[in-house]
Amino acid sequence: MKIAVADLQSLVEQVLARHGVASARAPLLAATIVAAERDGSRSHGLQRLAGYVSSLSSGWVDGAAEPVVHEAGPGLLKVDARNGFAQVALAEAAPRLRAMADRQGSAIMTTADGHHFAALWPDIEPLAVDGYIALTMVNTRASMVVWQGTHKVLGTNPMAFACPRRSRPPVVWDQASSVMSQGDVLLASAARRPLPEGVGVDGDGQATTDPDAVLRDGALVPFGGVKGGSLAFMIEVLATLGGARFGFEDRSATIPGAVTSNAGQFLLLIDPRRFGDSFLDRIEQLIEQLREAGTGRLPGDLRYERRRIAERDGLELSPEMHDYLLTASIA
Ligand code: NDP
Repeated sequence: MKIAVADLQSLVEQVLARHGVASARAPLLAATIVAAERDGSRSHGLQRLAGYVSSLSSGWVDGAAEPVVHEAGPGLLKVDARNGFAQVALAEAAPRLRAMADRQGSAIMTTADGHHFAALWPDIEPLAVDGYIALTMVNTRASMVVWQGTHKVLGTNPMAFACPRRSRPPVVWDQASSVMSQGDVLLASAARRPLPEGVGVDGDGQATTDPDAVLRDGALVPFGGVKGGSLAFMIEVLATLGGARFGFEDRSATIPGAVTSNAGQFLLLIDPRRFGDSFLDRIEQLIEQLREAGTGRLPGDLRYERRRIAERDGLELSPEMHDYLLTASIA
């Protein structure tokens, strides 16, 4: 069946509010899930909703948490998400972060004690639409083996970067440090589809294409081998600057029903206008060169196209998901 994006948003809001997300915050959180589904980022779309509900019901995450934003120095915001969702913490901090970047040219936010269970691009795309360059990173529960290690210490630590353009949607890339995100492994498991070679290892550290073996007691591997491991390490350091837990310190595995990671987020905001007036022209020159070199799709382009179609035609929803949404919005 098809559902209009606005109707899906309303259903997801109801599900989240029914399970303990403060009603003032449910629209924001629902928007990140619906935006991922709408733009085709399915690894972090509707399939994640049951995980949010489970974490909320288990008491592992506090849907009513009120974040505290503290100015830790010039251009530095330290945010305590108070065991709530990271998106809520960012929404609380964003006006001050923007004001700092307007005043000083750049600003950094670090969030601790927050749960980020979504794609990262929704956090930064709006900032680039308003002319800022934005870079964000999140650490997650230990789920990768890196640097010849034999067990998991670092997470699939994602990173996203957004660059404004003149009169065009920004270029936004958003990727995990692993060859494949855990969300895509979950999708493969649900579809009983083997993983491509080189994505993960089983509990004995042997390469496997079985998604369930990876999820059970195995691990993912970083993209680009050692280099992806290095990026994941950097993200672990930056995302925990404000006192967040390392991925290996996450206790979710010991709490029945806990699915989300309690970890950290780092966000760097730059106002390129501070460096002169030529920035947007230079970016267009760069993209023109890429076009001449054969680049068709820029990161973000496919999402924007899927968004346009979804806003026009609605989204495909399986009968099972529709039933789940209806049931979970009242029970
Ligand atoms: P993908 O491999 O699907 O995509 C990575 C990036 O590459 C995207 O920006 C994508 O753009 C771009 N891209 C892909 N193919 C092309 C192409 N042919 N030409 C140009 N650009 C291309 O991402 P991942 O699987 O690594 O990550 C998926 C999601 O998982 C991310 O949103 C990430 O934030 C999220 N994640 C979240 C975690 C969390 O704890 N919150 C943990 C780990 C991952 P486009 O978007 O346009 O397709």
